[in-house]
Formats: sequence, structure tokens, C-alpha cells
Amino acid sequence: MILETLQRFWGYSSFRPGQEEIIGAALAGEDVLAILPTGGGKSICFQVPTMEKEGLAIVITPLISLIKDQVQNLQARGIKAVAIHSGMTFHEIDVALDNARFGDYKFLYVSPERLRTDLFRARVVGMNVSFIVVDEAHCISQWGHDFRPDYLEIGALRDILPGVPVIALTATATPRVAGEIMDNLHFASRNMFCTGFSRPNLAYVVRNVEDKFGKLLSVCRSVRGTGIVYVRERKRTKEIAEFLQVQGVDADFYHAGLGKEERSEKQDRWKKGELRIIVATNAFGMGIDKPDVRFVVHFDLPESLEAYYQEAGRAGRDGKKSYAVLLWNRTDISRLNRIYKVTFPEPEYIADIYQKVFIFLGVAYEDGRNSTRKFDFEEFARHYHLNSTSAWYAIRYLDSAGYWTVSDEVDNPSRMMFTVNRDALYRVQLRDRNLDTFIKALMRIYPALFSVLVAIDEDFIARVIKDSAVKVKEMLLQLSREHLITYIPRVRSPLITFTTERLTPENLYLSAKTYNDRKDTYKRKVDAVLDYISPVADSSDGHLPCRSLRLTAYFGQKEEHPCGICDLCANHS
Ligand code: ADP
Ligand code: MG
Repeated sequence: MILETLQRFWGYSSFRPGQEEIIGAALAGEDVLAILPTGGGKSICFQVPTMEKEGLAIVITPLISLIKDQVQNLQARGIKAVAIHSGMTFHEIDVALDNARFGDYKFLYVSPERLRTDLFRARVVGMNVSFIVVDEAHCISQWGHDFRPDYLEIGALRDILPGVPVIALTATATPRVAGEIMDNLHFASRNMFCTGFSRPNLAYVVRNVEDKFGKLLSVCRSVRGTGIVYVRERKRTKEIAEFLQVQGVDADFYHAGLGKEERSEKQDRWKKGELRIIVATNAFGMGIDKPDVRFVVHFDLPESLEAYYQEAGRAGRDGKKSYAVLLWNRTDISRLNRIYKVTFPEPEYIADIYQKVFIFLGVAYEDGRNSTRKFDFEEFARHYHLNSTSAWYAIRYLDSAGYWTVSDEVDNPSRMMFTVNRDALYRVQLRDRNLDTFIKALMRIYPALFSVLVAIDEDFIARVIKDSAVKVKEMLLQLSREHLITYIPRVRSPLITFTTERLTPENLYLSAKTYNDRKDTYKRKVDAVLDYISPVADSSDGHLPCRSLRLTAYFGQKEEHPCGICDLCANHS
């Protein structure tokens, strides 16, 4: 039963609106398009049916960082998942595809540009595929806000895999985009599920105030129950939590810079109701499902309504009246304008950063393709006296344009493999008792060490051989010095993987159209936020007279009636 599967693997007690219907349609073998708000739980809609069915789901999703997250998430739940994307070497992809074919994996995540490669096409034929999943499906539509030509390849994939149903998911789809998604994915018949975006028990309130602290305090005092306060900067979370404590309000702070234990301790206390208010950056809330959150206050203006809707939507999951309060003043507006400027450095600047990164890492022209380097961004920025914000956005831009992938703050585990055959190893084992025990343990824990680089955990090995992690590292280094193994110790600093070789300035072509499209998209997002907070409740100015209507309209939905409980509705009644 699908509810049992949900509980067993995810530990959730019930489905969110829409999930059950979508899962049902998919399991009945229909092609289905699911339109659910951001944070509405789209992943469950394809993950649960995949667990119910035999075989492997191919999941196409555009962002490599999201692919990594999802794969880790599934693995953490004991589900076998593997990814292929352009940040990997040919060999790594080859191995991953073999695993997908023979290793009873349930999920194969693929970034869209891999779809047309011969390697992928040749291998996919031999796989027992249960579903073709298209996440962020609006990317296939020319009319969508994020068209990616590679998505059109999915149509061809359907021809290679006849009879395999499609599950397409997106958060935003006007009727025109929805139609185009279903056409381009060759739906057997039109079939879409769309849950409403309105949250009838959530009162949206926007306040233009100079004294945000005072306003926050009055919200915390007048609304009972648990709350979240979202703040942009890490250091401000502490400041605001302390302010509330001094005023006798039970509060603590949270951000991604805190240690892992401290974070989960705070999160647990808040979840259990032992802590009333958490003041946090947007690092807080992902994967947390607390039904009785009574209010979410945004202390700063968000950068997009997508983010706002998702964060504010953490209030009132239990259906009881709750508040989503947004505070702003002139300072926020000028900050948004500043961010806009640094987020989009000039193309010449981006091209210059491109060359500097290669020079910094000592990579010559036409070299570097498919290689991965350790990349200390702070040192890079210092070395060239760069404004680190602009430089970072230039690097991110080049990442999104497909030149390289920067893995940001991920913990890259140590990796190793044997570089000699068993006979050569055996001679070493005969010579040294300690190394003998050690090598045997390695082979027992990681059987694949002779064929591929395997992620290893020195602490775990140490526990198995009942020795210290320091000793384990020493022995690994010794084996590496004797050229018996390749050993890449774990790194915490970001890595950069070059997708293409280093291009000369004449050959680096940054498409002006892509650049301007990105800029326009960003500007539209900021404008939408400004539109949302506008106090004018007069449709002759193009402003809808209700916050909830403004939000749902932004997501392409037509609601019939004003919500009746937001600040604009309350003013009118
Ligand atoms: P989307 O892709 O629609 O933006 P996600 O699939 O990332 O949303 O899910 C958002 C969050 O909601 C995740 O933390 C997920 O675990 C949680 N979630 C999804 N379905 C349920 C459910 N039925 N009950 C509780 N939490 C859920
Ligand atoms: Mg998603």
C-alpha cells in the first residue's frame, strides 16, 4: 500500500494534497503532469510509485546540486540511487550506468545534457525502466521562464523506451505551458493534476515599518504558539534571538554556520515544542514537517516569491489559523537593488574571471577538460584583489552556463582504489603483518576497491580494525607512497570540475541572449516581490486587492475570491 511505503521510507503519517491522486495515476500507467507549489512535496509523487513498482526510474532534473541532494537523501533512507551528470568523468559515468543496469537500483538521476550522449542511449535500452520522471518540467516549454533545449531530448527517450509512463512535475505552469509540456513529452492523452496554491487558513500580512524589532515583538506577544523568524544574515539571527530573550520571549537562533550537533539539537527542541521561536536563515526548515507552526515572520524582504511562498507556507500545516508576516522598509529596497547589480557582473568581467580561475589553477589553454581541482575561492579572491561577491556570482554564472561545476561547501569524502593486482598486494601482506590485517579489512569493507575509486570513511575503518583514525590515515599514506593505492584524502573546500577545456578569450562566447534572459528573469522576480508588498489595493493600478490572490496569480493560478483574512482584505471589510 502506498501509505505504508510513505511511512516506511519517509516516516510521514499522511499525504499532502494531490500526492495520492498523482501517485494513483502513475501506478495506473498513465502519463501524468503534476502541478504543485514549491515545497508542496513533488518528489514524493514520483518516489513513492517507483518504490511500489519493479525496476528503475530515470529522473531528469536540471541542477547538479539538486541531483546530489536528492541522491544523498534517498541513500540516507536506504534506497539505492545513482546519478550521472557532466561533473563526472567518462569512467565514473560508465560505472554508474552499469550499476543502474545490474545493481537493482531504484533511481537514476540524469542531468538533461547527458541524454543525447551515445553512452547513455546505448545503456538505457538494457535497463528495466519503471518511469520517466521529468522534474522542473516547465524547462521543456519555450513559453516557460527557464527553457532548456536539452529537455526536448526527452521526447526521443520516450521512443527508445516505448510503453514507459511519464511523470512530469512543476510548480508553475500557465495553461499554455502545461499544454506544451504534455505535447513535447508525447503524452498518450492530456492528464494533469493541479492542487490549488491558496492556503485558506494562512493570513498574509505585510508591514512597512521603520522599527522592525518593535513590530516583531508585538507579533510574538500577540500570536500564541510556535514561530519561525527568517533573517538574511547569519549574525543577525543571534542578535534578534537575544533581543527577544531580553524581552522575555523564548527564542533561539539557527544558521548553517553552526556545528551539526548544535543545529540538530536546536531543531529538535523547537520541533518538540520545548523552544517556542527559532530565528534562522533560510537554511532552516528544509525537510522539517511541524504541523502546528502558528506564525512565520520575514524580517527582511525575500528575493523571490517562490522562496517566500515556501518559507511562509511552513505556518499552519494543520489547517488552523496562522500568520505569515513580512516586514520591510526603504533599506530593504535599496539592498535588493544592490544585490541585483552584484549578481549580474558585466560579461567582460565574467570572461576575465573565467581566465583567472584557470591561471590560478595552472591550467593551460585547451587543457583541463573533465578534470577536477581543489578550488579555494577565498584565496583566489584575495590573490587577485577581487570583490568576492562579484567574483563569486561570475563563477556561479559560468557554472550555470555549463563551463564548470563548483561544488560549494560539500564534504567530499576520501576516495581510494588499488592500483596493483592481488598478487602484488599479497607480496606486501606477506612482508608486513599490520598491513596484512589492514588490507584484508579494506577488501572486506569495500569489495569494489580493485576496479573503481571508492568513497571511504577513515573513522569507520578505524572502528572495524579497532585502531585510531590517525593510524588508518598513516597506513593509507604509506600504501600510497609505495604506489599500491590511489588515495585522495577528504577535502572540505570546494572542488571545481571543468566540463570543457580552457577556451582562449576569442573562443569564449558568452551568449548575450542567455545573459540578458537571466538578468530579465531575475529582475522579474524582484519586481514580483515589490508588487506583492505594494500597499495599493486598486486593480486599476494593476495590483490585485488581496495578498493571497497576488501570490496565486504569480504562480499562474486563477482564484475566484479574495482570501478575506490578509491585511488588504481586512482593510477593505
Ligand atoms: P517540491 O519539489 O514540491 O518543492 P519537495 O519534494 O522537495 O517539494 O518536498 C518539500 C518538503 O516537504 C520536503 O522536506 C519533503 O520531505 C516534505 N514532504 C513531502 N511530502 C510530505 C508529506 N506527505 N508529509 C510530510 N512532509 C512531506
Ligand atoms: Mg522539487
